[in-house]
Amino acid sequence: MTGYKRVLLKLSGEVFGGGQVGLDLDVINAIAAEIAEVARCGIQVAIVVGGGNFFRGAELQQRGMERARADYMGMLGTVMNCLALQDLIEKHGVETRVQTAITMGQVAEPYIPRRAIRHLEKGRVVIFGAGAGMPFFSTDTVSAQRALEARCEVMLMGKQGVDGVYDSDPKTNPNAVMYDTLTYDEFLSRDLRVADASAISMARDNNLEIVFFNLSTPGNIARAVRGEKIGTTVSR
Ligand code: UDP
Repeated sequence: MTGYKRVLLKLSGEVFGGGQVGLDLDVINAIAAEIAEVARCGIQVAIVVGGGNFFRGAELQQRGMERARADYMGMLGTVMNCLALQDLIEKHGVETRVQTAITMGQVAEPYIPRRAIRHLEKGRVVIFGAGAGMPFFSTDTVSAQRALEARCEVMLMGKQGVDGVYDSDPKTNPNAVMYDTLTYDEFLSRDLRVADASAISMARDNNLEIVFFNLSTPGNIARAVRGEKIGTTVSR
């Protein structure tokens, strides 16, 4: 078993809300404890946080809002998740820094890639918020970009209550089958919806390995970081 030294962990907003709108602090605290434990073992952890538990631009657009403005609301939602996660990780005794792609000096550092890498080298968990700072993007795509720029070895996609990538939605189809491994091209050609196609194609173009795994299973973050076979691996 190899194990990684620097990882990018993507936490979707769904996780933060425990499936609801807003924050489920018990759920976040359990994840924060696992992240702190991994960081204490010397693994460098960068995190991209989603915001679907507050707002998704596409949904607000369907309800009549202008898309770009709705997307900015979505990005601001991710920052609230970042601050909650920061608070709880630090309560477990590990230093963190939040960096946002939309500048808001009172609450977070701006996104400065070289500084983020320096924080990681010092053992601080770096939490990236506000997506790319640009409408029409998703936090999945940002995860691939941050993983590449911060030179992470793998992108770990933590999902709420789902073990990996399935051939159809396991929440509605009891016969859905989970894939152990997929190539980037298989993922894209099968039109699997668990991550954005743009994130997968960016990973493919730069040969960044992706692991989809279930965050709801205790200990899974450590397992994923150790390189144990869990969930679905997407690679070349
Ligand atoms: N968003 C955006 N640009 C980005 C990242 C996010 O406009 O670079 C907006 C978009 O409206 C999205 C929302 O923020 O719906 C929340 O992000 P996302 O849906 O990726 O969160 P998740 O699904 O992971 O909870």
